[in-house]
Amino acid sequence: MPLDQSEAIILRTQNFAEQDKLVVFFSREKGLVRGIAKGARKFNNRFGSSLEPFSVVRIFYYEKERHDLVTISNCDLLESAFDICRDPRAACLFSYLAELTEKFSPYRAVEEKLYRLLLSLIRAAHGGQQLPYLARYFEYWFLKINGILPDFRVCQKCRQPIKNSAWLEPHKDGVLCPKCAQEKKIEIRPDLAPAIDWIKKNPPEAAPGLEFRAEDWKQLGRVFQSIIIYHLEETPRTLSQLDF
Ligand SMILES: [Zn+2]
Repeated sequence: MPLDQSEAIILRTQNFAEQDKLVVFFSREKGLVRGIAKGARKFNNRFGSSLEPFSVVRIFYYEKERHDLVTISNCDLLESAFDICRDPRAACLFSYLAELTEKFSPYRAVEEKLYRLLLSLIRAAHGGQQLPYLARYFEYWFLKINGILPDFRVCQKCRQPIKNSAWLEPHKDGVLCPKCAQEKKIEIRPDLAPAIDWIKKNPPEAAPGLEFRAEDWKQLGRVFQSIIIYHLEETPRTLSQLDF
């Protein structure tokens, strides 16, 4: 069994057998991987706090033939997320990010862009960036990376540029102008456009230079989340805990 290693972000853990933990991690080189950390529930075990969610780590593991789960032998902590996850709202946000990453990502497919996105959001949260902004930032880029971000600037049917309000079309792969939209459920108000534009052009740590109320961030969230839910065919479990 050759030893493999990778830089990774711990997404979640759960108890496994009597003394072990099942660890879901997202690695830079291998994408989504699941493994068993033997003895990780024992007092004073060799993993210390490195398996806490959203820790950035260097993880060492063995592949077993014809086995989905790798065996994790060691884990070195590179960046702790302890100070982020002390804030329950931030912990909820990152659980949401982890759930989407796990549900959308194929097992062991390299997704360097998504890895870099998660890493940049962890760092921006360390820097004190506002959480509603980080939530929307993730959703926008997550949709983009997965190839399911609609073009918000042009009506999908008549191809006219959107000047005022638009509505998501029923299959969530485009927007419709007031003339073409029949089912007016999810509205993209014109005042949300600057936020979408800002997210598109700036790194997550940059303070959003917008006069935006909490309700506006929520409305933008409803737009992005309805696309996510449509493709996932279910509502992410962690979304109900997100209050922004
Ligand atoms: Zn139209």
